Amino acid sequence: MGAALEIRNLHVTVEDKPILRGVNLTVKQGEVHALMGPNGSGKSTLANVLLGNPAYEVTAGQIIFDGQDLLEMEADERSRAGLFLAFQYPVSIPGVTLANFLRLAINARMKAADPTSKGISVSDFRKLMRAKMDSLHMDHSFAGRYLNEGFSGGEKKRAEILQMAVLNPKITILDETDSGLDIDALRVVSEGVASLRGPDLGVLVITHYQRILNYIKPDYVHIMFEGRIVENGGPDLALRLEETGYDWVREKYGVEQE
Ligand code: ADP
Ligand code: MG
Repeated sequence: MGAALEIRNLHVTVEDKPILRGVNLTVKQGEVHALMGPNGSGKSTLANVLLGNPAYEVTAGQIIFDGQDLLEMEADERSRAGLFLAFQYPVSIPGVTLANFLRLAINARMKAADPTSKGISVSDFRKLMRAKMDSLHMDHSFAGRYLNEGFSGGEKKRAEILQMAVLNPKITILDETDSGLDIDALRVVSEGVASLRGPDLGVLVITHYQRILNYIKPDYVHIMFEGRIVENGGPDLALRLEETGYDWVREKYGVEQE
């Protein structure tokens, strides 16, 4: 049985203001889920909780990842356990290439698993990078680029997808909310997800852009509205969103407020 990310009855407040009001969502290895919803519905709040941002207080509910209590785990433990959180990329680090950065990430993980590990050898790392870049149809020269220095939106996404491929997570969370999704970035993310998609990878794409559904074909679609997931469906729900946007969601679920 594969790993799963299980969010159960999650309630979250920010500065004592309730934002998430009972979110239930399970993503299993091998499944691609899209979490959609209008701006302000709580999508980024959920992403921040998964990332372990201390500004977001969990007041009820739980998150279980691969049988463990995720909320008790530090960010690096979450990553080592096989959860990949692709968010705002770290600030650019002068003089560090993408390849250096990825090798450091692999070594840190190997040393955490075994303190006597010397990390990955240069030649093994090179082979791994070549194989991953080939499978993602990326030019090998990309690994030699300095981290984030003059990266376009699409290149940042490419770096993120490459990092994901190299770290080989069980479940990955892609928060597309504020990354300025131009067509190039959308294409990179969707092609990356398509080529890494398989029985060992579970994906949760968080976005309010219906358009992404033209590119990533999710198995499951969830709509968040006012802190709850109000609709769950498959590709049919994605089609409905593409055609009609969120107005019907507001009409159906917006009245009960106050
Ligand atoms: P979405 O990503 O779906 O657009 P968010 O999770 O960003 O929604 O926001 C949901 C609500 O929570 C909004 O009303 C927003 O103002 C509020 N919120 C989110 N993060 C913070 C924060 N750090 N401080 C104050 N309010 C916040
Ligand atoms: Mg957001």
